Amino acid sequence: MTSIPAILDEIRQKMACAEDRGKAASYIPELASADLQKFAISVCLPNGEQWSTGDSRTPFSIQSVSKVFTLAIALGRYGESLWRRVGREPTTKAFNSSQELEVRKGIPANPFVNAGAIVTTDMVLKGASPAEALGGILQFLRVAASEEDIHINRDIAASEKMTGHKNWALAHLLSAYGNLDHSCELTLGTYFHQCAIEMSCEELARSGRFLAGFGKKDDLVRQSSVKRINALMLTCGHYNGSGEFAYRVGIPAKSGVGGAILAIVPGKASIAVWSPGLDEYGNSLLGTAALEELSNRMEWSVFS
Ligand code: GLU
Repeated sequence: MTSIPAILDEIRQKMACAEDRGKAASYIPELASADLQKFAISVCLPNGEQWSTGDSRTPFSIQSVSKVFTLAIALGRYGESLWRRVGREPTTKAFNSSQELEVRKGIPANPFVNAGAIVTTDMVLKGASPAEALGGILQFLRVAASEEDIHINRDIAASEKMTGHKNWALAHLLSAYGNLDHSCELTLGTYFHQCAIEMSCEELARSGRFLAGFGKKDDLVRQSSVKRINALMLTCGHYNGSGEFAYRVGIPAKSGVGGAILAIVPGKASIAVWSPGLDEYGNSLLGTAALEELSNRMEWSVFS
C-alpha cells in the first residue's frame, strides 16, 4: 500500500497541474490578491504522526473555519440551550444570504452560515469584552493546535469591516428579530476578527485533533459535543455545496473563503488543506478535489 506521504505528494503534483484553480474571495479586498498557485495539505494521525506537503507552513486567513471553534466554545458554555437561537439544518441559500433568515424569523439555519456564526460569536461575547472573547478563542486554538504563535491579521479584519455589507445586513436583521445580545458593531467587530485569525495548514490540522477523537477524552470539548460538531460539519460545513461535498468526499469538514478546509475522519485523521481559489459556493476548488482524492485512496469516507 502506498504510504501517506507519497499519496500527499502525488495529490500535490496533480493539483499543481490543474488549469481551473477557482477564484479568490474578492469581496474581502485583502483576500482578493491571494496567490492561486499556493497549495498545502497536512494530515494528523492518532499515533501522533503528522504528514504535510506544499506550502504547509504558510499562514492564511482561516475565515469560516473559525466557526467550528466558536461553536465548540459556545456549546461548552451553553449546552443544548444554544439551539434556541440557531438551527441545525443545511441550507440551499448562499453563506451570506439574508433571505433564509427572514423566512426563519431571525433564527439562522445553522451555526456555519454567516448569520449562525454571528449569533454564536454574540453568545461567546456574553460577559466579556471583544478583546477577552477573542483572547478566549485564540487560547482555545493555541491549546488545540499545540502552538502558541497564532494571531489575528488586523488588516484583514479591518478590510472586511469596511466592505462586509451583507454581514452588516445580517447583524441588523438578527438584531431586529431580538437574536443579538450586543450591538451590531460589537458583535460584528468580534466576528470579523475571529474570521481573520491566521494559521498554517500544519497548525490547522493539529487544531482538529480533538474533533477526530485524539488525545485525552473530554479534554477541550465533551465527547457528546464532538459528535454533534462533526454531524454539523458533514451536513452544513460547505454551505449550499454541503450535499455535493458529502457525495464526493464523505468526511465532516468546514471550509472558509480564505481557501482552507478542515476535515475530520473520526478516529482516523484530522486533515487541513489550503488552496485560495474558490468554487461557486465559496469553497476551495482544489482543496475539495484534493480531499476527494485522499478520501478515495485512503477509503476514509465515513460512508465506505
Ligand atoms: N468572514 C467571511 C464572511 O463573513 C467568512 C465567510 C467564509 O469564510 O465562508 O463573509
